[in-house]
Amino acid sequence: MFKLKELAYSKEGLQPYISSETIEYHYNKHHKTYLDNLNSLCKQENICNETLETLIKTQSGNIFNNAAQVWNHTFYWESMAPDSGGDPIGQIANKIIKSFNSFENFKIEFKNKAMQHFGSGWIWIIQNSTTGKLEIETTSNAECPLKSGKRTILTCDLWEHAYYIDYRNLRTKYIDNWWNLVNWNFANSNLIHY
Ligand code: MN
Repeated sequence: MFKLKELAYSKEGLQPYISSETIEYHYNKHHKTYLDNLNSLCKQENICNETLETLIKTQSGNIFNNAAQVWNHTFYWESMAPDSGGDPIGQIANKIIKSFNSFENFKIEFKNKAMQHFGSGWIWIIQNSTTGKLEIETTSNAECPLKSGKRTILTCDLWEHAYYIDYRNLRTKYIDNWWNLVNWNFANSNLIHY
């Protein structure tokens, strides 16, 4: 059976940008529901021994949706940390400049793509496996770049449930504040060095 990975911080850890109430709903209810659904589907289909990554790469429909949402949310929680954000540090800082010319340009492109994405989904920073450069892409619903074997570096959840309690309909404000939470150490740990 799959387990809900514990958060590396308390429910209050991302305040004031993400409230404990949002974490309570988003982690303990939304994320946990995907996990509970996945476990009951795997039991029905007798595929409990597969890894989450294998399910994402090989399954479709309900199993894919719930497996991917479990993985996406865990990756999202790890993409943020208390007392983090601000200017990028370490290798990711160089990668951002090489790929987008400046951190400011990178944030503008990220925000444009996040705002242009219609409906529920995710925005990802991925590393191109040929060039080593960073790219920004959005996916709809549960879709994730892992399915096609792409290297994920960071993600931000664009489903309304991620920001509705704190920002109501204002995705733009949520994205602006998200930069105060970005876990650059996690981003650095995901980079592959060419
Ligand atoms: Mn979510």
